[in-house]
Amino acid sequence: MPSEFEIIRRYFARPARSASLGIGDDAALLRPCAGAELAVSTDMLVEGRHFRAGADARKLGHKALAVNLSDLAAMGATPRWATLALSLPDADEAWISAFADGLFALAERFATELIGGDTVRGPRSVCICILGEVPEGRALRRDGARAGDDIWVSGELGGAALALARPGTDEADRRLDQPEPRVALGQQLLGHASAAIDVSDGFAQDLSHILERSGCGALVHYDRLPKCGVFARIAQPELERACVLAGGDDYELVFTAPQNERAALEALSVELSLPLSRVGAIRAGASALSIIDAGGREVPVPPGFDHFPS
Ligand code: ADP
Ligand code: MG
Repeated sequence: MPSEFEIIRRYFARPARSASLGIGDDAALLRPCAGAELAVSTDMLVEGRHFRAGADARKLGHKALAVNLSDLAAMGATPRWATLALSLPDADEAWISAFADGLFALAERFATELIGGDTVRGPRSVCICILGEVPEGRALRRDGARAGDDIWVSGELGGAALALARPGTDEADRRLDQPEPRVALGQQLLGHASAAIDVSDGFAQDLSHILERSGCGALVHYDRLPKCGVFARIAQPELERACVLAGGDDYELVFTAPQNERAALEALSVELSLPLSRVGAIRAGASALSIIDAGGREVPVPPGFDHFPS
């Protein structure tokens, strides 16, 4: 069995070119670019809660980093560094190696360097802290939406929740296990979007966070929401609504933008080969979210995910 230090050296210590000092000392040393603000976010995944016991280690490595990259995407930040706090029940090298492969494959795609962490024995959990940069004063925040702005959604919704409810369709399973963080979209939304959030707890709940912070309401057209393709085949409208409106883990971006940005956003969609759907509008007044169907009838808004429901 390798020691804690062997594990770090074999699987996690890689040269961090963009840091003044990476793994191996008491702390890493980072040199942010001039004129940039640091964007910092942490997400923890716990076995039994966020992933099943026996979950594929490579996919878990991917997902643990992907959910953190998604938070930076939602700020319009460019990812640069990450730390990894890992709690493991044993020193199973096949598991650790596969986990590291999944994590580093994604890290390389997004030029993110692992610059530190902690390795302990305990119930399996993974906590990544990610750091990125965004030009000073320009980050996409939750509080910038204004009445009259359009509401947009990237990609499609509901696939990850469908995979939890009905495992076995590759398309939906992939959405759950291997989410694609919308980093390039977030970066390119700087200067176009007025507010943004990533869909981790469900579209309705996550959009509501923008509404609360921005002090406005919204009208959304259910039929315009982009939905995972599997729903069209299974024709179960209630399951579809629950997954599309309240399903978490999609890691798409929901953002608002003034109407005069429509042409720019349509061009961006083509440039990134990523569907961007205009699904509704921000309204003045109370931070209420109203979702209507094609006939103008109100669609009930199901509650999103909450770790501590009352
Ligand atoms: P300390 O005792 O100072 O906390 P550790 O012995 O825990 O240091 O870690 C040694 C070095 O390895 C540190 O630079 C730490 O950031 C890094 N490190 C530990 N675990 C991990 C990990 N899972 N991934 C990346 N770096 C790690
Ligand atoms: Mg330590």
